[in-house]
Amino acid sequence: MQYVPTMGPVHFDYIENWDVNALAFESDNHDFVGVYVGAIVTIYSFFGSLLAYPRFLMSIGNPLAEEEWKSDIVDPKQLFRQPKDLARRSFAHLIATIAIDFLLAHEIGHLMNGHVKLLRTRKGMPLLAEFDPTQKTREENLTLQRLEMDADAFAVGQGLTTALGRAGDPTHVFPPDWRQWYGTSRQALFSWTLAIYGFFRLIFEGHGQSRRSR
Ligand SMILES: [Zn+2]
Repeated sequence: MQYVPTMGPVHFDYIENWDVNALAFESDNHDFVGVYVGAIVTIYSFFGSLLAYPRFLMSIGNPLAEEEWKSDIVDPKQLFRQPKDLARRSFAHLIATIAIDFLLAHEIGHLMNGHVKLLRTRKGMPLLAEFDPTQKTREENLTLQRLEMDADAFAVGQGLTTALGRAGDPTHVFPPDWRQWYGTSRQALFSWTLAIYGFFRLIFEGHGQSRRSR
């Protein structure tokens, strides 16, 4: 198996920072993924408040159980609303988890496909952060954009394999309340696509700076 690149253990941890970011790095043949707590909270509250709105995704659960937003003024507490209807809450939980899984798989992709090693040995970059404000040359940006697309492709493969696998045997899906969203492959792809579309809209339009790949 000499053609398969070797890879050390991957260590994962949350980073106590309320910004939206994630990073990958390696040290002594150990690989590390760090996800900012802010990314997790932002993703969960985003999908929770979407499903807590009665006129969004009316085909999911019982939207009439949800309350209309009372005013046009954004109350910060409203941003952390979760759906009242159990099925809508289950769906919000599922798509938030799919989005977070995508982010994790994307970071693993950076490690498994050798991006982190390449940037460290060729460019002396100690870590690869998704949102990196340092100025880059045009050539560096092109290289980094390729790496982002490659990591996204890795995460898409992982996500679709999981989604279709769950639809193939919903009895193996946990928690059990998610099984209702995997009745058919079409349903599985709908949830996955919605989660990833929402994730990209959230991350790249709600964020002050654009990721290198945009
Ligand atoms: Zn990336």
